[in-house]
Amino acid sequence: MTDIPTVTGLKSRAVIAPLQRPVRTAVGTLPNAPLVLIDVETDLGVTGQAYVFGYTPVTLKAIVAFLSELEESLIGQSVAPVEQARFYENRFRLLGRQGLVGMALSCLDMALWDALGKAAGLPVVNLLGGRARPIQAYDSYGVVDPKEDREDLERSLERGFRAIKIKIGDGDLVRDIAMVSGVREIIGPDVELMVDFNQSRSVPDAVHRIEALSEYNLAWVEEPVPAEDFVGHAEVRAASTPPIQTGENWWFPQDMAKAIDAGACDCAMPDLMKIGGITAWLRAAGIAEANAIPVSSHLFVEASAHVLPVTPTAHYLEFLDIAGSVLQEPMEVKDGHVTARGPGLGMTWDEDAVARFTA
Ligand SMILES: [Mg+2]
Repeated sequence: MTDIPTVTGLKSRAVIAPLQRPVRTAVGTLPNAPLVLIDVETDLGVTGQAYVFGYTPVTLKAIVAFLSELEESLIGQSVAPVEQARFYENRFRLLGRQGLVGMALSCLDMALWDALGKAAGLPVVNLLGGRARPIQAYDSYGVVDPKEDREDLERSLERGFRAIKIKIGDGDLVRDIAMVSGVREIIGPDVELMVDFNQSRSVPDAVHRIEALSEYNLAWVEEPVPAEDFVGHAEVRAASTPPIQTGENWWFPQDMAKAIDAGACDCAMPDLMKIGGITAWLRAAGIAEANAIPVSSHLFVEASAHVLPVTPTAHYLEFLDIAGSVLQEPMEVKDGHVTARGPGLGMTWDEDAVARFTA
């Protein structure tokens, strides 16, 4: 029988990881990925690993400092992510977990699952009762220029992607139409095309723009209005034909339940780092199943490949690789699909790269 690992240390480091393509959005550009790499050290010699995506470099020191404050409470604990999630939920009950606290706790949860998987010599997906199988992925772009980015888009199709997402809403409607029609022309009628407004519009403007884009057969319209405006999402949804997608900014499954209750979306895309890690993803997956809502992932390609196979209404894995430059083996796309790797979450830091990109 495999021993359960006991935590002996919690280390974290900040890096600025380069991105293959900078991500331009309607509300700002991400030139690179500011990450905090977590290492949960254990008595069995295995190290649980995961990363926090800080979005901006100004968050990194605070996340590292917060995680180091948690080390004492973890040392000597046997790895049991559900128990640890309950412990920290209680510990931060008065403060609340939204924001950096929730991000750090969610990623710590992923690192704990990774440690369990490594100790057992199994991929996390097997611990969850599933098996590693190819999950359909979509290639996730920022704002594109159909002329300049044509070759990239064609390469996505060559890699087998059958779905592409672009970000719009960074300018006027004429610009949105030029982008969507230009990309549709390149990818053809049979590849799914999603658009993401990144929360940039008002309800009437979103409705107007979505209607003007109706001939391009959009597979979903993502975050048309501010993420916390569940009622606004519901109003856009009631007035629009394409499915409305949201969820990357839901904090823990409770937010998801409220959004669905408000009728905010047709599809859901919880983010492992904001929904509460793997432990809470499983609960979010149950909420989605009960409401017959398709679930896609947001970022975190490595860990998402482990949770989507056990998600009853799994839809798409978002392929946007933010940590590949600090991994020994970045995730690969085969024929438009991504498959979970092990042991654990299947990630090993490339220490040379980590040293090079240390923040
Ligand atoms: Mg988005």
